[in-house]
Amino acid sequence: MRISTLSVGDELICGQVTDTNAGTIAARLLEDGLRVQRHLVVGDNEADIISALTELGRISDAIIVTGGLGPTVDDLTSRAAARATGRRLVIHEEARNHARTMSSKLENLIVCPLNDKQAMIPTKSALIPNPNGTACGFHLMHNGSFMFFLPGVPAEMIVMLRETVIPFVLSRVPSKRVIRTVSLNLFGPCEAEVDEMLLGIARPEQGLTLGICVTFPRIKVTLRAEAATDDGATDLLVPAVRVMRERLKEYCYSSGDVSMEDTVAELFRERCLMLSLAESCSGGLIAKRITDIPGSSRYFCEGLVTYSNHAKKRLLGVSDEVLNTFGAVSSECASAMAKGVRLASDSDLGLAVTGIAGPDGGSEDKPAGTVYISLAAPDGCWTKRFQFNGNRDEVRVLTTWTALDWLRRYLLKRE
Ligand code: ATP
Repeated sequence: MRISTLSVGDELICGQVTDTNAGTIAARLLEDGLRVQRHLVVGDNEADIISALTELGRISDAIIVTGGLGPTVDDLTSRAAARATGRRLVIHEEARNHARTMSSKLENLIVCPLNDKQAMIPTKSALIPNPNGTACGFHLMHNGSFMFFLPGVPAEMIVMLRETVIPFVLSRVPSKRVIRTVSLNLFGPCEAEVDEMLLGIARPEQGLTLGICVTFPRIKVTLRAEAATDDGATDLLVPAVRVMRERLKEYCYSSGDVSMEDTVAELFRERCLMLSLAESCSGGLIAKRITDIPGSSRYFCEGLVTYSNHAKKRLLGVSDEVLNTFGAVSSECASAMAKGVRLASDSDLGLAVTGIAGPDGGSEDKPAGTVYISLAAPDGCWTKRFQFNGNRDEVRVLTTWTALDWLRRYLLKRE
């Protein structure tokens, strides 16, 4: 089945709002073996919506449109749908009742006053229920194409897509291909290195494709197998994933939607160890990531943000000698901080970071982006200097990720 999507909204073409609906719909359809072949974005302009519907109608069996169903004057999609398909716009009683009921339920959340405009639907259309908002969607058939119209609000759109649009489309697909995917998350190598490591794994001619997606600072690689049967897709995918894991080795920290901090949390829970942190340039970001995980009190004891030399001395026992001889951004200071927090908190592990997030404060031998990370543990203390590139935010993000990755690698070795 040839499927197209159309996003409507001035905010999308002006760049004020990112068009996430297009990606969400494409990804969701793909889970069911359906591929979007074309996507268009137009502003809140009736003529543009009509021409997009006409153009997509010529090449698509189904078009999924989002946006412009609301009550305001710039919401023009229903009118454009009616004009493009030669129908009249009429008040739909069920849509009107829905809008009234929902708006009394959502009283405190509704910004626009209730307007019957939302209940104006082209004739010969079927309603698409919207359990999360006031505007119902609708679908109709025109010149051999199914057209689905959904609100732009992502949380409303996704439920309607899942509950109505996809089952409807699937019921009309003659023979469906089976698609299986596995995604692995990596931290450390750059995109080109990952590309090289995974050379030869994809075999598009057999239905096995590979995607590499960078979302700073991690990389997600997705292997996708497409076959006529479930077994066929699994037979393609499983050996390829095994090879992929072997090649990526310790760079791979998780699969699917599992985050770096989820992985670290799991390792801490399994090993029954307690952690404390002493952070300088990361300003508490590592503690934030660790405590984002529910139940982190089982392995996280405390986190100190020791930004000044005074705090490093008073709370961690870093000596004047270390600070005066080597400076606060040094291997010696980082290891003294890690040992200090481990001792002060009576934890199994003490992790410390100190560095120059920039943009100021750097020198020739320690430019902005210089960061020392140290881990003090029962079996030793390890400290390493890193040179991160980027602005202040990026240096702090990289520091946080690298520190979590250090913990992960250490915990893996302590099996
Ligand atoms: P409403 O009843 O809220 O007016 P609507 O169908 O008219 O719904 P829009 O007014 O077009 O939808 O969009 C509502 C909000 O939904 C927008 O402000 C935007 O934040 C979000 N939105 C719309 N389209 C998209 C899209 N393609 N991707 C991501 N967000 C979107």
